[in-house]
Amino acid sequence: MKILIVEDEKSISEVVSAYAKREGLETICAFDGVEALKLFESEQPDLVVLDLMLPKLSGEEVCRRIREKSNTPVIMLTAKSSESDVVSGLDLGANDYVAKPFSPRVLMARIRAQLRPREGREIRDNLASGTCADGRIEIDPERVEIRKDGVVIPVTKSEFLIFSTLASKPVRTWSREEIIRSALGDDYDGFDRTIDTYIKNLRKKLAEKGHENGWIKTIYGFGYRLDDEK
Ligand code: CA
Repeated sequence: MKILIVEDEKSISEVVSAYAKREGLETICAFDGVEALKLFESEQPDLVVLDLMLPKLSGEEVCRRIREKSNTPVIMLTAKSSESDVVSGLDLGANDYVAKPFSPRVLMARIRAQLRPREGREIRDNLASGTCADGRIEIDPERVEIRKDGVVIPVTKSEFLIFSTLASKPVRTWSREEIIRSALGDDYDGFDRTIDTYIKNLRKKLAEKGHENGWIKTIYGFGYRLDDEK
């Protein structure tokens, strides 16, 4: 899991980053609002820790723009801590609010809580709705359907959830464990390698000449990603 830390005070950024790494999280740091949006786009983090008083673009504006296109959890970390600040932060779509000065251990607990898969909601949030493969493959979460060139591809619910997960973040490589957690949730009690069987079936159903992998790329020694390069 990868988190984006947006904080212009280097010492705070370093503390948060050090604690997060100890939790096994990968960290990326942005030091102003513009850089934050740029890294959010290119890195597709799983969570954002967001300071509000930032150079170039305020944290409020960063949060607003993230919310225009994503449900990625945002935790505001800020010295603005009056009741109305908290309320307006949450109104902007932040998932949680931690006031400075803060306890890094409390912040880590809040981060863990946001990253923990929530059955149902998590699956819903991760579902890509829209198209991939140059518009040829449509993912329809309402009907739990995948269509290729307008034709319904008969997939099982698990296959649907796995393909949607890959398509939800097209540039991201997913480990088998992450696919299980995001697509199938905590209830899943199969083995990591069972994912390979699902992928094999999906490929069989989606493959065609020139796209023998069914738009699913194997990243050896790691996992899978959507093969959607234009
Ligand atoms: Ca600041």
